[in-house]
Parts: sequence; C-alpha cells; structure tokens
Amino acid sequence: MEDTRSRQVVIAGAGVAGLTAALAFSERGYLVRLFEQAPRLEAAGAGIQLSPNATRILRQLGVLDRLLPAAVRPEAVVLKDAATLRELARVPLGEAAERRWQAPYLVAHRADLQDALMARLAERPDISLVTGARVGGIATGPRHATATVEIAGKTVEAGGFLLIGADGVWSAIRAFGGFSAKSRFSGELAWRATISAGSVAGEALAAVGAANCVTTFLHPGFHLVAYPVSNGTAFNLAAFTRGEIIAERWSGHADPNILLGAMRGTAAALARLAEDAGPWTAWPIHTVDQAQPWTTPAGIALIGDAAHAMTPFAAQGAAMAIE
Ligand SMILES: Cc1cc2nc3c(=O)[nH]c(=O)nc-3n(C[C@H](O)[C@H](O)[C@H](O)COP(=O)(O)OP(=O)(O)OC[C@H]3O[C@@H](n4cnc5c(N)ncnc54)[C@H](O)[C@@H]3O)c2cc1C
Repeated sequence: MEDTRSRQVVIAGAGVAGLTAALAFSERGYLVRLFEQAPRLEAAGAGIQLSPNATRILRQLGVLDRLLPAAVRPEAVVLKDAATLRELARVPLGEAAERRWQAPYLVAHRADLQDALMARLAERPDISLVTGARVGGIATGPRHATATVEIAGKTVEAGGFLLIGADGVWSAIRAFGGFSAKSRFSGELAWRATISAGSVAGEALAAVGAANCVTTFLHPGFHLVAYPVSNGTAFNLAAFTRGEIIAERWSGHADPNILLGAMRGTAAALARLAEDAGPWTAWPIHTVDQAQPWTTPAGIALIGDAAHAMTPFAAQGAAMAIE
C-alpha cells in the first residue's frame, strides 16, 4: 500500500505563496496540509500589483474569476516628475496588455487576493488549512520530511514527501532547514496609506491625473506609487525613502518627518496630498539573497519571500510568490 506521506505535501505559511502552492499541488492530486501561525487569516496589507505572469497562473488555478470583481485593470503605468508633475513615460496596460500577454495586468488589495485564494481553497477537500499553527521545528528522514507544529499549546507532527517553507521573509523553515540565505534590511522604508476615492486626498490624486493608472512620481531620494484598488473605491499609496530599520514586521512606526523631509522640492499638490493621506504606516523593506539554494535533497523547499524576498520597485513580490 502506498505510504500516505508519499502523496502528502506540508506547507508552512498561508500567505500568497503558501495558498497558491496548496492549490497547485491539490490540482495535481496531492494531499496538502497547510499550517498558518496567525490565529485567523484576516484582511492585512494594502495594495498589490499582479502582472500577467501571475494572473495567468491564477486563471489556471480557478482563482482569477473570484478576484476580478474587486480588482482594477489600470490603463497604463505612468512615470511623472514629482517636482513638475510632467509625464516622463507611459506603458499602456488594459486591453493592450491583455492582447500582448494573454492575461490581464491587475491591481488589487492584498485582502481581496487572499479572499479569492481562500474561496478556491474551500472547494478543495484535499487541502487542510489549520490556523493558529506555528511550525516550530523540522526533521528529515529517507524520502520524507516532518514538521513539528505548535497548535493551542500542543505539539503535533505532520510529515510528507515535501515540506515547503512559505513562511515569508523572516522564514523559520529557512533556518531549520540549514539554508544559508538570510534576510537583511534594504535601507529603504515604504510608507503606505489607503485613501478612499471620495476623500480630499482621493480627489487631489485624481486632480494630478493618477486616477486610472499605476502612477509613479519620481524625485531624488523619494518616489510615490499610486493606484486604484477595491474596484476603484480606494487608492493605494506607497512612498519610498531611505530609513533606519524599525521592525522585523510588515508595519511599524517611523517619524513621518522622514517622509515629509524626503518630499522637499516636490510639487505643492503632492506635498499636500501626503499630508491629507496620513496617517502613513511605515514598512521596513527586507530582502533575501536570491543566489542561495531554495531546495535540499532531504525534501525541503523554500518559496515566495522565504526564498527570494525582493524590494518592491518592480512590483513583483506577490507575482514571484505566485510563480
Ligand atoms: C500582514 C502582511 C501584510 C502585507 N502587506 C503587503 C502590502 O501591503 N503590499 C505588498 O506588496 N506586500 C505586502 N505583503 C507582502 C506580500 O504579501 C509578500 O511579499 C508576497 O506576497 C510574498 O508572499 P509570501 O506568501 O511569500 O509571504 P507572506 O505574505 O509574508 O506570508 C508568509 C506567511 O507565513 C506565516 N508564517 C510565518 N512563520 C510561520 C511559521 N513558523 N509557521 C506557520 N506560519 C508561519 C505568516 O504569518 C504569513 O501568513 C504583506 C505580507 C503580510 C504577511
């Protein structure tokens, strides 16, 4: 009789990478046990860009149709000079992108992507998701790997032919598995705010021509990316400055004067927008050295940010986690 472990995959972390991997393995007939340390998968984060390399996969996995009602198809990526607001470059998206890459370029709230992945997961009886379950150790044997999982003060073991660390940039599996890659602070802070389209800041953003596009305002030592999310009812703003390490988490507190100082010399309309859009959440950007191996012969693999967390400047973090 076939050992169940030879058909079973264990995944640590139910972020974008873990949820997508669970669906992909289940499509191929594997049993999946997915463990997430957070007590609940709550709406977290802000905007995420999903280029066609990612949406094509979401379509194959039956997730795209669930995401489309909440996502936005931007008309273009537009680069503007933050001081003069002059347009510097424009890459058409929308229909043009879809014709070219046979899949849409989307922007969405991270929570909407997570909801769409979860809705598809709920239809797959071969995936078991346990929240409040932290993978606290691993062991490997011939042709199998076992995770030690802490759930409500108890410890359980879950084994499979493959153990996947989808546990993000500060991955525990990376350390337990003996991988040499480490995360490091990039020296950059991302400042995030979500504003409603009808707010003063939302109207100011539309007035500088950024309503239906992914617009980047460029300035020495600072840039601001803005795009619509939640079916166009809100905008995601992400500004980037140099900064000190403030936390090893997705959000922390940093002095807003760092942001306002970095915007010195930008157009008055943008500076006002930054004041109206607050409070800003600071996000210290950490990366992982991508040149190191992501798999071991003992059946451990790292995916997503655990393997290759990157700065968000090419907007590929979520897309790479999906791929
Ligand atoms: C709360 C949060 C908010 C974010 N906000 C944004 C945003 O606004 N914009 C943006 O572009 N990107 C955001 N990101 C990052 C973005 O989701 C990732 O860069 C990208 O999608 C790669 O995803 P990932 O699944 O590899 O990693 P993550 O999205 O980091 O997912 C890792 C998951 O593993 C879980 N985990 C960690 N350790 C363990 C363990 N030992 N056992 C079990 N589970 C564990 C974590 O709780 C988390 O759910 C956010 C991530 C998080 C976790």
